[in-house]
Amino acid sequence: MKFGTMLGDLTISLFSQPSTERYPFERSEAPERLRGMLIWHPEDCIGCGLCAKDCPAGALDVIVLDKESKKYQLRYYPDRCTFCAQCVYSCRQGCLEMSNEIWELAALDRSMFDIIFGDCLENG
Ligand code: SF4
Ligand code: SF4
Repeated sequence: MKFGTMLGDLTISLFSQPSTERYPFERSEAPERLRGMLIWHPEDCIGCGLCAKDCPAGALDVIVLDKESKKYQLRYYPDRCTFCAQCVYSCRQGCLEMSNEIWELAALDRSMFDIIFGDCLENG
């Protein structure tokens, strides 16, 4: 590279905005269809277990607390999840979605990868 060209590039770099982002200090909005953390809406869950049955990664378990009063929990292992969204498509009740806001799922503590949704549920 010629010295003149290099000097030109250097001058442009000095006066232009950086191309990099200031993450994690500034977070850009994630794409609308990003498949992040699985979210469970228990209100309509019938405990059919299809989500767990169809999960190719074994990342879900449906826990039946009380079948008569339709109380269930959903156990989710994010470290096994491949974010394929099969469970979302399999749930006929529309209880599952993948958040495009919660996607920073790295953790130092393994307990973060064993989530029991509905742990404190009064109903459902
Ligand atoms: S997104 Fe895919 S891998 Fe993750 S829990 Fe659902 S079915 Fe399983
Ligand atoms: S979340 Fe959906 S697929 Fe899974 S047990 Fe409940 S109703 Fe069935």
